[in-house]
Amino acid sequence: MTTATAVSDLTASDPIADPAAHRVLTGDRPTGPLHLGHYFGTLQNRVRLQDRGVEMFVLVADYQVITDRDLADRLAEHTENLVLEYLAAGLDPDRATIFAHSAVPALNQLLLPFLSLVSVAELSRNPTVKDEIAHSSQAAVNGLMFTYPVHQAADILFCKADLVPVGQDQLPHLEVARTIARRFNERYPHTDGSTVFPRPKALLSDAPMLLGTDGGKMSKSRGNAVSLGATEDETARIIRGAKTDVERRISYDPANRPEVSSLVLLAALCQERTPEAIAEEIGDGGAAALKRTVTESVNEYFRPLRARRAELATDRGHLRQVLRDGAARANAIADATLAEVREVMGAI
Ligand code: ATP
Ligand code: MG
Repeated sequence: MTTATAVSDLTASDPIADPAAHRVLTGDRPTGPLHLGHYFGTLQNRVRLQDRGVEMFVLVADYQVITDRDLADRLAEHTENLVLEYLAAGLDPDRATIFAHSAVPALNQLLLPFLSLVSVAELSRNPTVKDEIAHSSQAAVNGLMFTYPVHQAADILFCKADLVPVGQDQLPHLEVARTIARRFNERYPHTDGSTVFPRPKALLSDAPMLLGTDGGKMSKSRGNAVSLGATEDETARIIRGAKTDVERRISYDPANRPEVSSLVLLAALCQERTPEAIAEEIGDGGAAALKRTVTESVNEYFRPLRARRAELATDRGHLRQVLRDGAARANAIADATLAEVREVMGAI
């Protein structure tokens, strides 16, 4: 996995020298409720960037749902719920453009020239595609699964985003987007020599891969997640069932004790302390004490977000309006980019 292009040092206090010089795009698949991995992996960074004045695009990747399943189950409901989670977490639709893939035709047209810029071999050795195939509910791998990273390049490049706050699993996809931007620029420069696309960078958080209760990547689709909207009792129950190990003394050692360390990290993120300090405090308390601490920390940290979420959930019309407004803005930008792409390619 390539990490060379990732910047991981963006913390709350780290200033972006010139917010106006950047544009951010990220997104999520509407496959279910967002979880703690999303929050600490990317959502928190999105809100931080927005609050520092960086222009923000957030995409609901509805077409991508059918990469690994036959039907997009309860698509409208999941899509609205993503908007709900974004707003509850602090994204502001007046500053952030929130929209769905399927509402922006010009974005999706970029897929055609972009597909010509990558080889089948490059797509088939993408480690994230391989992992998602392994967890897919389908008997056969469909074509959209292979073109997923190229579609994602179109997502990022349609608005010329240069920063992409993502979890670690997305780094190989980001590499594809960078490759496509470079090859497109080399093959199709403007007549004055200037280029169409930036080369986007991944922005990793302090929790680029939060683990789920089974010790694998916390995922919406793998039944191993604590969702942002879970009740306090559900949170306690799910964390109680998390995989740990037999050693009584709690330590922060991600390489050798991944499951315990991911729980320690979760408490640390919620308490805004270091994982080492949390591990030290629990000491010989064992997994039971660790889980109590994690549960209390999560419930306390997310109480305000969960309250906002419950309030926002009463107005579904507002959620749909956010998507309509976002789609209008995204379409204007996508149309302009597609026109530029057609021009440099010599299309009439
Ligand atoms: P699915 O199982 O349906 O693929 P998911 O939980 O993997 O869902 P995505 O919508 O694929 O969620 O990912 C959205 C964003 O959240 C991506 O940037 C991804 O890297 C990030 N992300 C997802 N899971 C985690 C995690 N466990 N830790 C950190 N970041 C994560
Ligand atoms: Mg995923």
